[in-house]
Parts: sequence; C-alpha cells; structure tokens
Amino acid sequence: MPHVTAVIPAAGSGKRMGGNKSKQYLEIASRPIIAHTLQVFQEASFVDDIILVSPAAEIPFSRELVSNYGISKVVSIAEGGAERQDSIKKGLETIESSTDIVIVHDGVRPFIKSDILKASVNVALEYGAALVAVPVKDTVKKVNGGSVIETVPRNKLWLAQTPQTFSYDLIMAAYKNAFLKGIIGTDDASLVEILGKEVRIVMGSYDNIKITTPEDLLFAEAILKEKQL
Ligand code: C5P
Repeated sequence: MPHVTAVIPAAGSGKRMGGNKSKQYLEIASRPIIAHTLQVFQEASFVDDIILVSPAAEIPFSRELVSNYGISKVVSIAEGGAERQDSIKKGLETIESSTDIVIVHDGVRPFIKSDILKASVNVALEYGAALVAVPVKDTVKKVNGGSVIETVPRNKLWLAQTPQTFSYDLIMAAYKNAFLKGIIGTDDASLVEILGKEVRIVMGSYDNIKITTPEDLLFAEAILKEKQL
C-alpha cells in the first residue's frame, strides 16, 4: 500500500470575503469550512497523514479545532507563508521522505468527494501527476481594454481545481525548481508542467467549489442542504 500524505493549505487571510475572520474558519452548517474539508480526508481510508498549513497566529486555534473534531490523521500543523505557494512549500518541507504520494487540497474546498480523491491518487501512482479539473461550460472571450480580441475555442479548456496529486519525488522536484528560479505558479500542477512532465486530468465535479466570496458561502449552504436531503 502506498503511503499517502495530504497537504491542506488553510493559511489565506480571506481578504475577498470581507470581515476579519479567515474564510477557512467561517461556518457552514455550524462547522468551520476547514473542519468539513479535514473530515473528508480523515474518513478516506487510503489517506495516511494530513499536514495542515495555518496562519502563524492561528496555530493554537487550529490545533484545538483538529482535536475538537477528532482529526487524528493530522501529524503536523505548519506555519503558512505570504502566498499559497509559500504555504504549500512549508507544508511539503515537513513531509517524511517515506511518503509515496502527496495530495494538495485547498482547505476551502469542503465538497471534494472521496471517489474523486481516490481517482487522483490512482492516477498519480500510474502517471506521477493528477489534476482534478472540469470542462469549461461558458464561452470564453479574450478581452483587452474592454473589447473582445478573440473567442477562445473552449473544447480544450478545463478549469483546474484541487486535489492535485503527485508522486513525492515529482512534487518536491517541482517546488525546488520553482524556488530556485523564482517561479510563482497559480497552482501546483503548473510547477510540474514547467519540468516538462505529464499531468493527467481527473474529472472533477462542479460543486467542488472554492469558497472565496460571500456569494460562495450562500452556494455552499445550498450544496450542503441538497446533500442532506
Ligand atoms: O488564495 P486562494 O483563495 O486560492 O486560496 C486557496 C487555498 O490556499 C485556501 O485554502 C487558502 O487558505 C490557502 N492559502 C494559504 N496561504 C496563503 C494563501 C492561501 O494557505 N498565503
């Protein structure tokens, strides 16, 4: 059985959400968003360890949350950095090199389904890198200065989500290369792509939303309500 470690970044400040509470601690159905996310990994039998990345000032609170919700797979709580990539780098640095597979999953995507998570692990075991994504449904325009330059054919466009799952050696090499060259990517797979390695797509789900704005919170409540019906 491969050893699987999940790195869950939850060290953003949530500026787009307004208010002063980091978005990962806002509640849906009376639980912090991050607790919902952690629960999925806690219940997934194929995940061994969880590394939670938290803002420095909130590490004691995160520790308490992990204990209150019984998330026993959390082996360490790393201190986040200025950007998401810095936070994940800090998380990766705490992983044991005996790990085979690393799953990176945003703390603010609580609706990830265990079967998609599992599929990403299987694809990473076979190919080295798996990216959960969904096809673009809307027509996409390239715009400059308020005017359309081009309608981009959408048949090859996908929206990247998380989990993004990798062999340990590959994600460590990708982050090392990015650090040495000062590359900032908007996701983890892009750092692997820069190495010229294949990243395989795993079909995601449209309700695997990233809760970023107050509107997302309303949408999240609706998804939860439907799940409970
Ligand atoms: O930045 P974005 O909204 O894409 O956040 C995605 C995830 O990355 C969130 O779970 C957020 O808490 C985390 N993050 C982080 N450290 C940062 C910025 C974001 O762990 N500096």
